[in-house]
Amino acid sequence: MGLHKPIGYLNKLIKSDLIILDGIMGDLNFEEGGNPVEINRVLVGKDPVLIDAYAAELIGYAPDDIEYIKVAEEAGIGTADIESAKVLELNKNFNVGEIKHTNRVQQLARFIVDKEACSACYGSLIHALERLDEKGLLHKLEDEIYIGQGYKDQEEDNIGVGLCTKSFKKNIPGCPPKARDIVNYLEKVTRN
Ligand code: SF4
Repeated sequence: MGLHKPIGYLNKLIKSDLIILDGIMGDLNFEEGGNPVEINRVLVGKDPVLIDAYAAELIGYAPDDIEYIKVAEEAGIGTADIESAKVLELNKNFNVGEIKHTNRVQQLARFIVDKEACSACYGSLIHALERLDEKGLLHKLEDEIYIGQGYKDQEEDNIGVGLCTKSFKKNIPGCPPKARDIVNYLEKVTRN
């Protein structure tokens, strides 16, 4: 709807000293809610482009997928270069999620075998599966994906998500992993 340019340039006119992004409870695909997914994160930073680029990866997008991030970076408002950014992770939350899943989240959860997964980890995986579906690849996913603190030190042949499943033959590292990293891995699996 032509909104990307105005969103990008708005930050040139209105400068932010500090950005606080509430990522405690986001939504799968709609800003006003409908399919809430808990990821239990609050991001704080000084560069609005970097904050949005980082948040994009948390929910499974590459920063380049989001047009206004590119517009803002090209306008010199900030950088989307996450690799060079200084990111500090504080106050990690290892609580297991308790919210009731909507139908859409339940559909995605049929690919998941969960034993005490932290909500941040589980939320990353749900977002990743939704992104995979947007790419038309979810129907090609044949394996179930294991996740959770209950799989620590277990050796399995399946795909495991996160540090807790590091002894699995196929593992996507991170604690919790970003949804973008899960999407990258599953894209390779489903395209082969
Ligand atoms: S990998 Fe980390 S975030 Fe994921 S379930 Fe294990 S402890 Fe929780």
